[in-house]
Amino acid sequence: MRPLVLDGCAVVTMDPAHTEHATGHVVVDGGRISHVGAGRYADDTEHVTVVDASGCLATPGLVNTHHHLYQWATRGLAVDNTLFEWLTALYPVWRHIDEDIVRAAATGALGWLARTGCTTSMDHHYVFPAGSGDLLAAEVHAARAVGLRFMPTRGSMDLGESDGGLPPDDVVEDLDTILASTAEAIDTYHDGSDDSMLRVGVSPCSPFSVTGELLKEAAVLARAKGVRLHTHLAETADEEDFCRQRFGCAPIEYVDSLGWLGPDVWLAHGIHFDDAAVARLGDTATAIAHCPSSNARLGAGICRTRDLRDAGVPVGLGVDGAASNEAASLLEEVRHALLFARATGGPTALTVRDALEMATIGGARALGWDDRIGSLEPGKLADIALWRLDTLPHADIVDPVSALVLGAPAPLELLLVQGRPVVERDRLVNLDEAAVAAEVGAASTRLLTNAGVIS
Ligand SMILES: [Zn+2]
Repeated sequence: MRPLVLDGCAVVTMDPAHTEHATGHVVVDGGRISHVGAGRYADDTEHVTVVDASGCLATPGLVNTHHHLYQWATRGLAVDNTLFEWLTALYPVWRHIDEDIVRAAATGALGWLARTGCTTSMDHHYVFPAGSGDLLAAEVHAARAVGLRFMPTRGSMDLGESDGGLPPDDVVEDLDTILASTAEAIDTYHDGSDDSMLRVGVSPCSPFSVTGELLKEAAVLARAKGVRLHTHLAETADEEDFCRQRFGCAPIEYVDSLGWLGPDVWLAHGIHFDDAAVARLGDTATAIAHCPSSNARLGAGICRTRDLRDAGVPVGLGVDGAASNEAASLLEEVRHALLFARATGGPTALTVRDALEMATIGGARALGWDDRIGSLEPGKLADIALWRLDTLPHADIVDPVSALVLGAPAPLELLLVQGRPVVERDRLVNLDEAAVAAEVGAASTRLLTNAGVIS
């Protein structure tokens, strides 16, 4: 493939010096970024493809640090409930998922993420009903079909209702099965190479759905395999009550005692932390996946992003599962992260650039992938979002970052993953979006019918 030049656009690199160009160019060669510069491209034009990107802003592709892709098939349920009420309503539906439903839901979820500027997404899958097929294979298939870089994590639950947990007994697995399946998922799919499109992580679900033994053993396994660890933590006040009653301490003290803080761990939500917990996260370089829309949808609270960042905690953004964030737009999370931080912390709590940083290099740090993605720098993988900012919603806004973060959702002119186009002019390149919508609609109908939600 000939080198590609995005020419004449504003460029926000998110490199360590926070380099920006009001007018610049980005050169992509062999799936990697080979050059980023100021002004128009003035080199050899004979052997390259030059794209006129004037009127646009090039940013690193957005990185999604928390999701449950299968939930795309169960959107719009339990819409006025707390987290624990919402989970209790949805577990009986989720027990009916299978490979085909997960494939359709994951394709829809990842396709929509791509349309909102995301080039890398993780997934946290923790519902494995008996006989449901190879669910991890289904989501890997979906990521390849859409064209996104992917970090599926093998989740798990082993603390059923009869043992004092929240999930019903028939959606939990036993410890040995979980550890064997997790090891197998890593051995089958994890690619640790420089140009990797897929890395695997390990992700027991939450303190109220897994045993301490599973948390401990999962950490040992992940560290032996050299992959990252993820779980939900400190999402709601109910979780705090659960941990204090059952373990006699706060959620963070509980996971700390099980070896679950460190630079190889990222935690979803991280809302209910006191100052000591924030400091401990900073000291251990444990990262947070901030999911503002889901947190607001469930009335869970607002993450202390400013305090966490000040303490040196890597903070990324996530859409969370679409059953608690029906919009599931990663670009929208950037705006919400900014607005929610300011609603509680005042107008200087986060800058527009802080918010975009969390969605790009911040997310890459949370996933431990910042050596390869998250910024526009020579040598890094060519994951690039090109936003159109010269139409009615944005044309008069001088600063392109303010336009992108504060303005209406910007048209996505081009989305490159490893230099390959995944979205062009708001259309998926590799899939027919209408067909994806029809498939996920049919999968959702089948799931809700089997679960008795609709007849
Ligand atoms: Zn979640």
